Amino acid sequence: MAAEGQSAVPHASRRRLTIGRRLFYTHLLVALLVAFGLGSYLHWVAEAELSRALQARLVDNATLAAEAVGVGDWEAIRHPSDTQRPEYADLSSRLSAIVKRNQAIERLLVVRQEDGQVTAVADSRGANSGYAPGDSLPPALGRQASGAAQAGAISGSSKDFNALTTLPGGGGRYRMLLQIPAEDIDGKLETLRINSAVSFILAVALALAMSVWLARSAQRVLRRFALRFREIAEGRLDQKLDLAGNDEFVDLAVALDEMAGRLNEAQRVRESALGDLQAARDRLEGMVRERSIELDQLNVMLRSEIEQRCQLEAALAEAAATDMMTHLLNRRGMVEALEHAAEQARRQKSSFIVAVVDIDLFKRVNDQLGHSVGDQVVIAMGRRLKSSLGHADAACRWGGEEFLLLWPGLTITEGEKRANALRESIAAGPIYPQGPQITVSIGVAEFTGLDTLDRCINRADKALYRAKTNGRNCVVVGL
Ligand code: GH3
Ligand code: MG
Ligand code: MG
Repeated sequence: MAAEGQSAVPHASRRRLTIGRRLFYTHLLVALLVAFGLGSYLHWVAEAELSRALQARLVDNATLAAEAVGVGDWEAIRHPSDTQRPEYADLSSRLSAIVKRNQAIERLLVVRQEDGQVTAVADSRGANSGYAPGDSLPPALGRQASGAAQAGAISGSSKDFNALTTLPGGGGRYRMLLQIPAEDIDGKLETLRINSAVSFILAVALALAMSVWLARSAQRVLRRFALRFREIAEGRLDQKLDLAGNDEFVDLAVALDEMAGRLNEAQRVRESALGDLQAARDRLEGMVRERSIELDQLNVMLRSEIEQRCQLEAALAEAAATDMMTHLLNRRGMVEALEHAAEQARRQKSSFIVAVVDIDLFKRVNDQLGHSVGDQVVIAMGRRLKSSLGHADAACRWGGEEFLLLWPGLTITEGEKRANALRESIAAGPIYPQGPQITVSIGVAEFTGLDTLDRCINRADKALYRAKTNGRNCVVVGL
């Protein structure tokens, strides 16, 4: 059982009461009980048989000895001094002869029972080393000797007298006690004891060996089961237990192998389904990827289209708000700019300046230099006005040869000053190299947020009109 603790199961503990140990101890206990019980019974039977055979032999010997002693006149043998009598010598020599002849007899004692007393008559050992005539027997021996048996075994140890018989003659008063050799009984009993002990030791050794074998064989099978269960738990399903024999363990192994086989089949089906699922997923991912690329391409196209459209719209919006000849804002663009500035001025409680610029006597330019020179003058005027603008300013062709300027952040005085500076710069030289000399009249008005844009422009218009009537090439502020 030394290998019992080295179980294949890792968590098996040395102190654990394993099935192998339980089987071992149980079987050993049962085997020992059976061996002990059976051994005791057999010992008892053998002892009884030996005792019966001994008794039979004792009785036979006692009867034979009694016959050999025969009948004699032993009445005179009553005192130790009677050993000198010929009757005693006769009886004593007979007893000695019987003992000498018969190896199975150790000692013979003839006693007389008289008046409730049991006294010795003759002893095969002689009067000196045994009982002398007239000696009283010890009470226990006396009681045995006074028994009524014809011939029979009496109880006692191997050192006592073992059989009793009544001698013929003498009115039944003479009895003979017989003792067999002590070693005869002791030897037989010793042999019986040794045999029983050897049998018992053999039975114990056999029980031990069988218990070990039983425990180990059960444990071996259980370990194989434990190992197989672990293999199944780890997914190794394709092996088999294949136990030999025809017991319940084999039934269990067959059921386990069947279960593992079914699990294996289920796992194969599951793996195949998972493979199909993965393939479908890959296909789907491929399709999604392709579709994503298409969508990205479409997105890029769409974005570029939107960009183009925005650019187009911006160009259209710019074109819608731009004068094609001068590339300044047109009237519509300027209205938007004015509305935006008015909104801001109202919100910030600020003001801006509106200046209306009209070329003086432009009809004459057309008439004297031709319409195309007139156009060149208008275009040059546009360039000149554009170059005079600050970052927040705006300029437009308000109509024909009339322009409108928007100057935010200026007071009316600053506006008037700036208008005069513009007017003077135009009047200072030709509007373009080799171009005609022209002058402009300017009407200036301030938008304060208290009135409307129309009224403000109207004031500037009226101021322009007054500038014309004042002799042209001048600036008039409209209040
Ligand atoms: P004033 O303004 O000083 O009173 O005199 P004016 O000669 O300029 O008179 P008015 O403003 O009434 O006439 C402007 C003329 O300018 C009328 C029109 O034929 C001409 N004109 C307007 N726009 C253009 C243009 O784009 N090109 C040319 N060549 N002529 C234009
Ligand atoms: Mg004019
Ligand atoms: Mg005009």
